[in-house]
Amino acid sequence: MEFSRFGERFRAPSGIRRLMDDLGRAMAGGRMLMLGGGSPAAIPEMQAVWRRRVRELLDDGAAIDRTLLHYDTPQGNLEFIDTLAAFFRREFGWPVAPDNLVITAGAQSAFFALFNMLAGDPAPGRARRRIVLPLMPEYIGYADQGLSPDLFRGLAPRVQATGPRRFKYHVDFDALGAVNDAAAVCVSRPTNPTGNVLSDDEVSRLLAFARSRGVPLIVDHAYGAPFPCIQFREAAPVWDPESVLVFTLSKLGLPGVRTGIVLAPAPLAGALASWNSILHLANDNVGQAIVRPLFASGEILTLSREVIRPFYEGRARQALAWADEFLGDAGDWTVHESEGALFLWFRFPGLGISAEALYERLKRRGVLVVPGHYFFYGGQAGHPHAHECVRVTCSQSPETVREGFRILGEEIRRAGDRG
Ligand code: PLP
Repeated sequence: MEFSRFGERFRAPSGIRRLMDDLGRAMAGGRMLMLGGGSPAAIPEMQAVWRRRVRELLDDGAAIDRTLLHYDTPQGNLEFIDTLAAFFRREFGWPVAPDNLVITAGAQSAFFALFNMLAGDPAPGRARRRIVLPLMPEYIGYADQGLSPDLFRGLAPRVQATGPRRFKYHVDFDALGAVNDAAAVCVSRPTNPTGNVLSDDEVSRLLAFARSRGVPLIVDHAYGAPFPCIQFREAAPVWDPESVLVFTLSKLGLPGVRTGIVLAPAPLAGALASWNSILHLANDNVGQAIVRPLFASGEILTLSREVIRPFYEGRARQALAWADEFLGDAGDWTVHESEGALFLWFRFPGLGISAEALYERLKRRGVLVVPGHYFFYGGQAGHPHAHECVRVTCSQSPETVREGFRILGEEIRRAGDRG
């Protein structure tokens, strides 16, 4: 069969395909210890909320019939959009209007549309511009989204040793200042894969840079404030009328409903709504129906702050303790400061094998992690950390994570002994 360039683009192997295959198979009852994907944890209090909401929808026959029977507008469910606009105005004082909002089939598809609408093949007479990722390593799921080559310009991080076996990445603002082909600047906050949380000051400097270039700052809030708020240091969400904030219901515990929320300047939100209609007419509306009252009442904020955040913070602290226990004095391992998200980002310098080889060895032992090179792209594939780091997820059950760390410790020692 002959494929078009567009078809070839999707046929080619990609890190995110491999990751999601691993994840789907492991979660479908395989025997693997899943320390690889970004699946949210089963948090009993949150599962009770979702069950309650589904029951309420079913009990109110008209509500479930309305939800299942109709296509929503391509922008999203209008009642949900109004509720969201009121939520952002009420809780944050942001002057958000309904036409600043659009629902997408997960945040993942929002990023595909945003990146390719803003960067890539230029309109006639215009220069080629790129999506600037100022703090590599950055989310694996962006890496293969460009329909044209070289869509991303990734910037190497500044690396700071923060304590025994701890380090932290920072934005290199000098390097950013020299960039002159930005179509947009994009950061995940907290960062997937490292668990870094950009400070408010860093975000305002990114915003100042974006404003100086007349381009949007896109902030990916998949794990961030105000929901699901999986961040362990204070960091306020920031909105500027020219910026774009992308949210998702996934990490609240609802990845199955595939619902993303984009807050953007009205022309961009409108283009995304058209894109929705061209690609899939309308979005899944079940997730919107499930969460709408929680946004109307503000309960989503208390659940995020009082249930979700402490749960994941506890998981991260416990995983760090197991790292100390099982990796112990095995070589020069270090781990990025854990400030949010579901992951720990380990660096194993001088291990004698690459992170990819470590991934393979762990997989043979029934443990899935993600090798670091997938998170270095946009010109950063050669960064020394790309082959020294792995991302380890700590959201699964404590038994799974503990056993995974025990085996990781064994493999690190084995590699250190024999390479
Ligand atoms: N952005 C980041 C940083 C993520 O980690 C993920 C999913 O893991 C997404 C976006 C996509 O989320 P969704 O499930 O809404 O497509």
